[in-house]
Amino acid sequence: MSRFGRALRDRQPDPAGRRWLFVPYDQLSDGIGPLSREDPRTLGLVLVETLWKPARRPYHKQKLALVLANLRHFALEQAARGVAIRHVAASGPYRAALEPLIAALGPLRVMESAERELRADLAPLVASGGLLVIPHEGWLTTAEDFRTSQRSGPPWRMDAFYRHVRRRTGILMRDGKPVGGKFSFDPDNRLPWRGDPPAPQPPRLRPDAITEEVGDLVEDLFARHPGRLDLAALPATRQDAEALWAWAGQECLPVFGPYEDAMSSRSSGLFHTRISALLNLHRLLPSRVVADVAGMTLPLASQEGFIRQILGWREFVRHVHLATDGFRNLPDGVAPITQPDKDGGATPSVLGASGPLPPVFWGTPSGLACLDRVVADVWAEGYSHHITRLMVLANLATLLDVSPRELTDWFWVAYADAYDWVVEPNVLGMGTYAVGDLMTTKPYVSGAAYIARMSDYCESCAFDPTTTCPITRLYWAFLARHEMRLRDNLRLRLPLQALRKRPTARREEDARMFQHVRATLAAGSALSAQAAAKAKPRRDRHERN
Ligand SMILES: Cc1cc2nc3c(=O)[nH]c(=O)nc-3n(C[C@H](O)[C@H](O)[C@H](O)COP(=O)(O)OP(=O)(O)OC[C@H]3O[C@@H](n4cnc5c(N)ncnc54)[C@H](O)[C@@H]3O)c2cc1C
Ligand code: SF4
Repeated sequence: MSRFGRALRDRQPDPAGRRWLFVPYDQLSDGIGPLSREDPRTLGLVLVETLWKPARRPYHKQKLALVLANLRHFALEQAARGVAIRHVAASGPYRAALEPLIAALGPLRVMESAERELRADLAPLVASGGLLVIPHEGWLTTAEDFRTSQRSGPPWRMDAFYRHVRRRTGILMRDGKPVGGKFSFDPDNRLPWRGDPPAPQPPRLRPDAITEEVGDLVEDLFARHPGRLDLAALPATRQDAEALWAWAGQECLPVFGPYEDAMSSRSSGLFHTRISALLNLHRLLPSRVVADVAGMTLPLASQEGFIRQILGWREFVRHVHLATDGFRNLPDGVAPITQPDKDGGATPSVLGASGPLPPVFWGTPSGLACLDRVVADVWAEGYSHHITRLMVLANLATLLDVSPRELTDWFWVAYADAYDWVVEPNVLGMGTYAVGDLMTTKPYVSGAAYIARMSDYCESCAFDPTTTCPITRLYWAFLARHEMRLRDNLRLRLPLQALRKRPTARREEDARMFQHVRATLAAGSALSAQAAAKAKPRRDRHERN
């Protein structure tokens, strides 16, 4: 018997006369649902570990260990409270694991699953009455909030949603007005980081015997999965979650706002809190985190900026996921699906991008220091912060016309916080413009100037961001390829005007550079500054992007 099995047996209360509840892998909290209000001595929990889930995709080892270690610790914590636990090890879908239990224990209650993939798996049990679905109490907003805030949508806009939710909840509001006089302080939050204040080091945790056993299991059963396993960086217990949140409050939040968009080769997270993986498992509750931050004494730009991420963006993307059934049902005329293969997830691609994801995303050096740095961070930690995801990884993939679905599937396996409801809106909706302006106002693409301004990556790059960097050429080539599709986009008016003034010879060089970069990276080769220098442009004012 495993250490975990023995520990659970030793704590297990008498299971007789319990009302049973199925708790999915990402609802690990006794602060919501029946666990938060019913007598633990009357409750039984069904928890399922199945090999079926990790067999579906090559998830990062850190993610596998994170989910499993938290599930096991949650089981032990609940047993210690007097809740009876049925822990099931299975190799098939969750449905198959639950069927015999339902036959033995009677219908199980379950809070509605956040992941569509799990909802689809469980649907027959819901239809047959074996599972009784109750609302998921971890969310801060309702479908009604989403609908009311988007009176004229789709397209849907986060800022309208956020303003509505602030007003409805009264969070950061005084006398019906936003604290500080405006709802968003985003324009104040765009400083690059040059080393001061020093970037905080995430806490190193002490893995216990249960977590170490999970680590061994992952290394053993999933040896072929990518990514580095680092148990000291893996919050597994309730105490670990508290330690990470306390660290975030002290070290990150006071300067969260100003450096929110900064990137650095010296720190993969800078002043970002790294709590997304715990929020998505509900080891930290969004309601608690928002309440804590609203009650802290912080500069308003940091306080508001952080609350907007959780109360605004996190909730908004979930509503987009629900409203589109994971982008399978898109509003008429907003974003046509070009490849209707739905089995592996929706495949919208408004710009017609369908290229393969180049090997650099799996760790083969590309010669582009920004991309190589962020990819290395991701495989080392299962994490990187928002701007690196958006303005390096998704930007590069979009500039290269990589299939948005392929990129989404990569994000899904590479990041410890990825689940369909959150990764798909972020990559298909925000990162790649695969659904057009359905949830963002423009494609988030840029040339080298943005990366050079907001990061220190260029200091160690063989390319020069103002002269030889291929990314600027890719940017112009992207605008040229998609000019017709993007011509009505107001936010791209200036770049498209600049494109039209760009000399033909320069545009031809851009197109050649696109072909060269795409072919070189597809072959798993690194770009060289010498090869790029052959097409060396003079710097002109349009090169600033
Ligand atoms: C291309 C791309 C892919 C992404 N994939 C994921 C994903 O798979 N899972 C995920 O949780 N987030 C995803 N995000 C959103 C965001 O990048 C991460 O939530 C954030 O970087 C997590 O790090 P943090 O906890 O240090 O965040 P902080 O910057 O400290 O922010 C606090 C919290 O706000 C929430 N948040 C902020 N922005 C978003 C957002 N756009 N969507 C959802 N929650 C948000 C997160 O819960 C985060 O923990 C993605 C963003 C992009 C651009
Ligand atoms: S010079 Fe270009 S490729 Fe190199 S780090 Fe800067 S933006 Fe990236």
